[in-house]
Amino acid sequence: MPEGDTVWNTAQVLERALAGRELTASDFRVPQLATARLDGWTVVESACRGKHLLLRMATPAGEKRTLHSHLRMEGAWRAYDKGQRWAARPSHLIRVILRTTGPVAVGYHLHELKIIRTADEHTLVGHLGPDLLKPDWDPDEAVRRLSAKPDATIAEALLDQRNLAGIGNLYKAETLFLRGVWPWTRVGDLAKPELDGMVDLAHRLLNANTGRWTQSTTGSLRRFETSYVYGRRAQPCRRCGTAIEKKDLGERVTYWCPRCQKAPDKPKPEPQPEP
Ligand SMILES: [Zn+2]
Repeated sequence: MPEGDTVWNTAQVLERALAGRELTASDFRVPQLATARLDGWTVVESACRGKHLLLRMATPAGEKRTLHSHLRMEGAWRAYDKGQRWAARPSHLIRVILRTTGPVAVGYHLHELKIIRTADEHTLVGHLGPDLLKPDWDPDEAVRRLSAKPDATIAEALLDQRNLAGIGNLYKAETLFLRGVWPWTRVGDLAKPELDGMVDLAHRLLNANTGRWTQSTTGSLRRFETSYVYGRRAQPCRRCGTAIEKKDLGERVTYWCPRCQKAPDKPKPEPQPEP
């Protein structure tokens, strides 16, 4: 699942390739936009909010429009120079091609492709919580939103983009490991300083990986050394040597160390009086 930093990096790729340029042709390969034509539109800027990509453009008549896309699990945008081979993904996964006289942008396996008025972007992203990768990041608001649903598990709550926007399975698993928190802990059972620390850590981990594609939470960029628990099922914990565990729930995969992230002790049953 692409995380906020991947989406942020993708927005930068589109910004560098397209911003300020006029589109000479567009080719949408999704039914809802099959007849859309963007030739003559000028790309104003490429932005993102949480995991939503927002390509802002001006029509020849000067109206402001946004091409929205979402990467979900496997989506990607690539920019190619003129004449460069489109090698990133098989061509049947192409959902949109945006051409200029220079670079061409190709969107693979994208979801929620739609064109809206830029003034209406809030209808798509207005529900999102504070964005971990934005200058206006607001940790207090993120903690307030997390705390409002005390019965959610912390693993679910960190992924819920309405609480805070940008965390996927990787940063969820790594943050919980580094804080020593069992993924199924109820949010309501975590004290506010713990939530503050967790949100602050997630913020630092994501921001450390903007500007490069290799995601690392350990500080190492070497293969197989970039994470503590994520992607390391059955391998020894880097702290205690215990085998890392993994639980798969559809798109929500969780990795954890059963020793460093212990489940809270169950309350002992009341002693029964002797008959
Ligand atoms: Zn461990």
